[in-house]
Amino acid sequence: MAPPVGEYAGRMTQGGTIPRFVPTGGDPDPLQALKEEIAERLSDNWRDVRLRLLPSDVEHGSLMGIGLTCVRLYNELNYEKRQAFFKGELTRAKMYEIDRKYYYKYKDALGVNAQAVIRKNDEAWKSFFKLLKLKKRGRLPPHIRKVSPPGYWKDRLTGKKEIHILIRSDRYHLEPIDENGGYLVLEDFGLRIRYAGRIKWEGRQGRLEIIYVNGRWYAYLPIEVGREPPKSNKKGYVRPNHKDGRGRIVNPRSIKQRDPIGDEKAFMDMGLNNLFAVVTTNGYVLLVKGGTIKSEYYWWKREIATYQAVRDLLRNAGFPTWVYYHERYLEAVYTRDERLRHLYLTSIRFLAETLWSRGVRKLYIGYPIMLSQNNGNEYNTNIWWYRKIVLWIVDVFREYGIEVELVPEYYTSRECSICGEVHENGRIYRGLYVCRRNGMKVNADVNAAINMARKQGYKVKITRKIESYIVTHNGVKPLNPDRRANTQDPEIRNPVL
Ligand SMILES: [Zn+2]
Repeated sequence: MAPPVGEYAGRMTQGGTIPRFVPTGGDPDPLQALKEEIAERLSDNWRDVRLRLLPSDVEHGSLMGIGLTCVRLYNELNYEKRQAFFKGELTRAKMYEIDRKYYYKYKDALGVNAQAVIRKNDEAWKSFFKLLKLKKRGRLPPHIRKVSPPGYWKDRLTGKKEIHILIRSDRYHLEPIDENGGYLVLEDFGLRIRYAGRIKWEGRQGRLEIIYVNGRWYAYLPIEVGREPPKSNKKGYVRPNHKDGRGRIVNPRSIKQRDPIGDEKAFMDMGLNNLFAVVTTNGYVLLVKGGTIKSEYYWWKREIATYQAVRDLLRNAGFPTWVYYHERYLEAVYTRDERLRHLYLTSIRFLAETLWSRGVRKLYIGYPIMLSQNNGNEYNTNIWWYRKIVLWIVDVFREYGIEVELVPEYYTSRECSICGEVHENGRIYRGLYVCRRNGMKVNADVNAAINMARKQGYKVKITRKIESYIVTHNGVKPLNPDRRANTQDPEIRNPVL
């Protein structure tokens, strides 16, 4: 059986068939790239909050009108920049000239929000140029497959516009009503739209982005946590409307909510069957099973492939009904991503809560050294998910005051954590590692995590029974409930989605 294309990250070394990465001169160091990305993320205090907008029919119509105008602006502007780029004429001065021209063309319709749309486009070009530079130096981050100039806000196959609205940070404000939501006021458009969503932080608001996807409106609200708004925009300060029953948000002006209660270290191996295998210096072993994620992933994979196949068949045969299947396909991709994101975030929050309650101060995560040159697509998918999960972990663990460090995973799954040797065929079958010296068996992922600890200079002794959990859409459940039926289990809540 071919190793599954790894939707969710991780080492695909279960079958032992994945070639090991041997660093060569020209290759960027993907671990270093990810470490830098994490450091950058930790250096600021932004949190994005997603709100669901619930417009009336009339308001829906207005939003659509504004959205289409934003998209027209973005696409026209982008077209001109692309033309200039392909002719080799897209200088900084040229960009500025194009921006200016379109600002004046659209400022009557959008007000200063035209500037927000233009900035968004500028940012896309800036990051494109940055990637081009990295590519020239052979330093492209491994999760990037292809570098191409910014595309249009439209579907590539149907040409249907993708609705985005951008609102400058001082041209909107929130009027919360209760802990479930309130009104979003778009000052330049005379709109006051109901929103639903819980906000845990307070701080200065950034540029608002509203999108319309799968028949729903969402607003992405960036908050610079703890920072005061500028004097010119007193209303631009978002306040939290949510505290859970236990008053968990202690200080909404800080991303970090708690301090560690101990000085323990945890070591984690991320894998396919065990989403997380963690050992701690005080002897705990936790396995969070990824079974739900795996089956969910495969279910959607088939669903998506079917829509795709029907779409292509109809399209090639010239039937206009292909568009219907294309839309089902897009919906399925979106739903899959939402569901997986929910499962991952649920597991991550559970892990953070649990490790915090066991006194963990620092978490080491194994970085799979499994770059494979001849297997580009699969590698990219795996590394893409791995990166995404690690960044989610960093974000969530920050709230618990737990530091996260990535460490390379050379041979940690081959060595024996019991005697320290490398046994040929130590991994006898899926999930188990057997010590060839004394015949003891150990869970293969736990084996890897213990080895990881040793490489960091910690001797981990397993003094407790392995705790197994499984993530579901209703939270994380213990797999050995008789033993775990106590009131000390941390309460697991789904993160606000
Ligand atoms: Zn051994």
